[in-house]
Amino acid sequence: MALFEELTTMGHEQVVFCHDKATGLKAIIAIHDTTLGPALGGCRMWDYKSEEDALRDVLRLSRGMTYKNAVSGLNLGGGKAVIIGDPKKLKSEAFFRTFGRFVNSLGGRYITAEDVNIRVNDIELVGLETDFVAGINSRAGGSGDPSPVTAWGVYHGIRASVQYKLGKSSLKGVSVAVQGCGAVGSHLIEHLTHEGAKVYVADIDAEKVKENVRLYGAEAASLEDIHRLKVDVFAPCALGGFLDDRVIPELKASIVAGAANNQLLDESIHGSMLRERGILYAPDYVINAGGVINVYQELAGYDEKIAKQRAANIYDTLTNVYKEADAKGITTNQASGHIAEERIKAVRGMSSLRNTLGNQNWPHHDLLKR
Ligand code: NAD
Repeated sequence: MALFEELTTMGHEQVVFCHDKATGLKAIIAIHDTTLGPALGGCRMWDYKSEEDALRDVLRLSRGMTYKNAVSGLNLGGGKAVIIGDPKKLKSEAFFRTFGRFVNSLGGRYITAEDVNIRVNDIELVGLETDFVAGINSRAGGSGDPSPVTAWGVYHGIRASVQYKLGKSSLKGVSVAVQGCGAVGSHLIEHLTHEGAKVYVADIDAEKVKENVRLYGAEAASLEDIHRLKVDVFAPCALGGFLDDRVIPELKASIVAGAANNQLLDESIHGSMLRERGILYAPDYVINAGGVINVYQELAGYDEKIAKQRAANIYDTLTNVYKEADAKGITTNQASGHIAEERIKAVRGMSSLRNTLGNQNWPHHDLLKR
């Protein structure tokens, strides 16, 4: 990869390669953009096939965090870390504390948290070496499991989508097919059924399906049919990449709005395919931002009530995305990208004024004092 060419195209500020022979740590931290505040994004551990795959992943994921944080109205930039290697073989106290020292060496330009294969216990070890960490339980004011707040945000995102597409202000009688009833899905099913929606559920884990049928009166559907049901909303809450050339033509829902990350197999092709079919798509990183909103609240002094209020604002954020998409005749994922870029551009434009006036009120300075 022509690294600097790639960084120029994607707009990254800094990429840090971290290595420690004693523990076997090999990590890459990518800081994409800090215009709006310190770069926040989780740390993923994966046994990548090649170092180039790891680099590509961290560049893509950190850029995604810039957009997510910007469109969600948070005073945060985008960053991400990847640790290369087999989690079963490499994890140890010294391993994560060493990673913590690397994070600390960036002086707060990057704040880390959990992601794939990184558990709360691991991130707590990182937190022994740096304050620039979020999503931990042990520290006073820690925010813990983000999934209830993520589900709360998705629920409000579904409400906004139903209002926008179907003109209904309530979910009573609206039908929703939820694919995946895990941590986020099951909380979402609870909110939907509580408001009187007719909910269908499917999961590869039959026990989880049974539990949601029993607890919330949802109706079980098969794994093959969940996206083909004649419902108002299809809510993907399992794995990413599900919306592809095969699945999109089979959808009967007029709205796709769910928690899963990276729902479109290919952003440009499949976003357009949904639009052409007249299906309203809630961009995944907009509707599932409750998790990062929860972590942001932890940095400011955690209060679950405030975190949930902020997550409920996803209703307005999504409505703006839909209006922008319709006004410009573009896909909803393109519209959310534009809104994020416009916000960053406007704040970046303030920098010369900030240099003249001083930046005592730069919002994230307070965020970092803990
Ligand atoms: P989870 O692992 O608790 O739940 C996922 C569920 O999907 C599991 O019950 C699993 O059995 C099921 N599943 C997997 N493959 C399936 C398939 N093919 N068909 C049906 N069900 C299947 O994960 P989660 O925390 O609930 O997250 C769900 C999605 O939301 C993920 O894509 C995640 O990246 C995204 N997300 C989660 C959060 C959060 O706060 N947890 C925040 C943002 C985004």
